[in-house]
Amino acid sequence: MAFGKTRMTLFHDRRQLLSGIIPSYTDPEACLRQLIELQKQVPSLYALLSVNACTLAFTHHALAPAWMTVGLPSGMIGLCVVRAMHWWRLRPQEISGAEAFNRLRATSLLTVLFSALFVGWALCLNAYGGPFEQGHVAIFVAITVVACIFCLTHLPVAALLVTVIVIGCFLIHCFTSGNSVFIAIALNTAFVTVVMVRILTNNFLAFLQLVASKAEAQRLGEENQRLAHTDSLTGLPNRRYFFQRLDALIAASAGRDAAFALAIFDLDRFKPINDTFGHTAGDRVLEETGRRLGAFATGGVMVARLGGDEFGVLIHAVDGPDEVVELCNRICSALHAPISLGETQVMPGCSGGLALYPHAGRAADALFDRADYALYHSKERKRGSATLFSQEHEDAIRAERAVETALQGADLAAEMEMHYQPILDTATDRITTVEALARWTNPKLGRVPPDRFIAVAERCGMIHSVTLLLLRKALADAAQLPPEIGLSFNLSSHDLASSETVIAVLAAVRQSGLDPRRITLELTETALMRDFEGAQQAITLLRALGIKIALDDFGTGYSSLNYFHRLPLDGIKIDRGFMADVESDLGRSVVSTILDLCQNLGLDGIAEGIETTEQLKAVRRHGCRYVQGYLIGMPQPMTELLEGFRKRTLPVEPVAV
Ligand code: C2E
Ligand code: CA
Ligand code: CA
Repeated sequence: MAFGKTRMTLFHDRRQLLSGIIPSYTDPEACLRQLIELQKQVPSLYALLSVNACTLAFTHHALAPAWMTVGLPSGMIGLCVVRAMHWWRLRPQEISGAEAFNRLRATSLLTVLFSALFVGWALCLNAYGGPFEQGHVAIFVAITVVACIFCLTHLPVAALLVTVIVIGCFLIHCFTSGNSVFIAIALNTAFVTVVMVRILTNNFLAFLQLVASKAEAQRLGEENQRLAHTDSLTGLPNRRYFFQRLDALIAASAGRDAAFALAIFDLDRFKPINDTFGHTAGDRVLEETGRRLGAFATGGVMVARLGGDEFGVLIHAVDGPDEVVELCNRICSALHAPISLGETQVMPGCSGGLALYPHAGRAADALFDRADYALYHSKERKRGSATLFSQEHEDAIRAERAVETALQGADLAAEMEMHYQPILDTATDRITTVEALARWTNPKLGRVPPDRFIAVAERCGMIHSVTLLLLRKALADAAQLPPEIGLSFNLSSHDLASSETVIAVLAAVRQSGLDPRRITLELTETALMRDFEGAQQAITLLRALGIKIALDDFGTGYSSLNYFHRLPLDGIKIDRGFMADVESDLGRSVVSTILDLCQNLGLDGIAEGIETTEQLKAVRRHGCRYVQGYLIGMPQPMTELLEGFRKRTLPVEPVAV
């Protein structure tokens, strides 16, 4: 059974058998493995040949001529020593597959020479001496050929050549001698060696299969490794690979302080595109973004998708900050070009932030956080371009951290209060609304301006609780206001994106008992940009309850006309930045254009930051009905505001303009 199986395996595929026993140039890996295995055995083979030759020479020393028992064997042993040294010194790990193939071929050819030499010498010695010496020759031939087959397991062609030459010569010699004992010995030896060569070949095929399966396992391992490092959607390297490269770059740069840059890019309008056109369209946008970014990946630039619509770029060997900023701005511009989605086109746009090693940090986390901070800066202040992390940012981070620590440890309910700034209706010269503005006085930091602590609360995830705390205070204070005066409250850009916050705002309004129609919520364009669809839904929900919505700081952001058509708004607050120039031609035309727009769309236009009577006159001339600013009234606590109403120091009476 076992033998039958061996036969079947052995001759299962003749081509396989042939390619197995003859070294193949097309399989350099197998040639190398053969050479490595052979190196372990060939020196023993030469040692064995030398010892066997010595013993045979010794038993024939007194009988045969000296050149046959001393001269020739010495030469043969010398050859063995030279070859053994050669194999000893061989470093298979350092040679190529092709070279290994050549060496195997040379070894096979040499076995022909060695076989002929050794068997020829032994059979020549057979002419000298009696039956004992002749028996020794037979034993010499038999054990030497068996030992050779064993030692040449990993080079079957050589084993086969040895068998054919040695056993062939031995058989011929014994048959011609006519001695039946020697014929029997020769036949017996021939049978044993043929079986051994078969077993050897079979083992060798198993060895080849093992080499092949190891190579396949290695290939699969490498493929798995590649897949584990690739983002399946864009085909770019993924986050894991990005951070591995970053760590490697830091390690390589550590001693030399070689500069490199880490940049993060984030699409500006990916979420609205995804929400409006669906996930397939979103995937298409990411694929195209990946393709465009991939075009920047050269020897010195590595591009990866970090997740969602965030991409990372590592720029090696940076010459100077200007060049990297320029490259990053080119990347932003490339991502600014429209992407076609069938019949429509979208412009996701892109902002970037970058940090330079070692200036911005030496650890991967520090570098990444700083590039992320610079990205946040781009998003807030200069969308569509890249910002380099600078010393000013470092100082700002430090200051922010102090605010963050104070914010987390503070008794916010006790330390925060609301001030109220009146908004005047110039048609009736009566205060119609008061805007609630947060004030925080911390025992350690003193007064912290609201735009600063709101931004920190947004970044550290506290904005939800801060907004609700302030809203509850404002709603409680508003109960003291005359019923004809409304309350305007600022929502952070993060609030509208969180359905949890929107629901909590609705609940707080209901709980307060204040008529929702007296409440206006002020939103910035950033809030709408963050998640347009979500903002639209939230605004619809709030308005359904009677709450009014005003767009704050208009003119400082994107000022996209799109909002007015697609969003149900009640008013627009023209940013105070325009008031300084309201008397100049440019300022006048900006303000009058915005007011025209409000009139056409039936929205209230509210001019912020009115400080002088000239500004007030100018905006009124353009038909602005509602005004707010230091001229009308400073932000002040509710008690002072009510006092002002009572003493009529606030213009509840007509203002002379
Ligand atoms: P904002 O909503 O644009 O608020 C108006 C800001 O302009 C207030 O600054 C106010 O004091 C100031 N202001 C009013 N009239 C004049 C004027 O005539 N001239 C000048 N130069 N400034 C004037 P404030 O109180 O420092 O608030 C700054 C920003 O902080 C606010 O800008 C708003 O974005 C944010 N903020 C304030 N309170 C809150 C709040 O309760 N929640 C949220 N989310 N943000 C708030
Ligand atoms: Ca406001
Ligand atoms: Ca404002």
